[in-house]
Amino acid sequence: MHAAAPDWRTDARSTADVAVVRVAEQRDHGAVRVSYGEVTVTTQVTAYQRRTPDGVVLETVPLDMPAQHLSTRAVWYDVDEEALLGAGLSVVRIPGALHAAEHAAIGLLPLFATCDRWDIGGMSTVVHPHTGCPTVFVHDGHPGGAGFAERGHAVLLPWLTATRAAIADCECRAGCPSCVQSPKCGNGNVPLDKAGAITVLDVVVGHVAGEPTQRS
Ligand SMILES: [Zn+2]
Ligand SMILES: [Zn+2]
Repeated sequence: MHAAAPDWRTDARSTADVAVVRVAEQRDHGAVRVSYGEVTVTTQVTAYQRRTPDGVVLETVPLDMPAQHLSTRAVWYDVDEEALLGAGLSVVRIPGALHAAEHAAIGLLPLFATCDRWDIGGMSTVVHPHTGCPTVFVHDGHPGGAGFAERGHAVLLPWLTATRAAIADCECRAGCPSCVQSPKCGNGNVPLDKAGAITVLDVVVGHVAGEPTQRS
């Protein structure tokens, strides 16, 4: 008898919350605002899941773990929901679009800052208490920050332009590890809307570049 390799893998499920402690810099581009500052990231592992290699959930085991707090730095953008709707997104697609745009931006930042995607994290939400709008955060994974979010803020336009191109140029149909999926997603890469992420980034890049996207 040979011991069979397990035909399942386990993933941790976690929740993340980002609280803005201090805004150090903020640029207003109309429907889009770009900020950099101090944040507290609170994460909590809530469960682990056993999945088949295809991602089918076999078992979810709830865990009662203490919340972890990280004081660090983040760059974030928030977008008026009307601008996203005007660009063609429906309300139900916004969470997946923001989430996919967040993952892709984390994947591309190492091209602009000398970091690994494991050095940074992110969070996206359709309404954040600080901004009151759909918001995407990318934060340093080290206490006090390690300069990666600051770098992202400094090169935001080329970074997000490259992020948009990486998603659009990826030949997968609905998102893959090369574009919008993340190996460290606490939400099992759900929801993700690849096409929606391109729309979000078109709106953000368009406003930051000073060329607001046309409403259709
Ligand atoms: Zn892809
Ligand atoms: Zn995620």
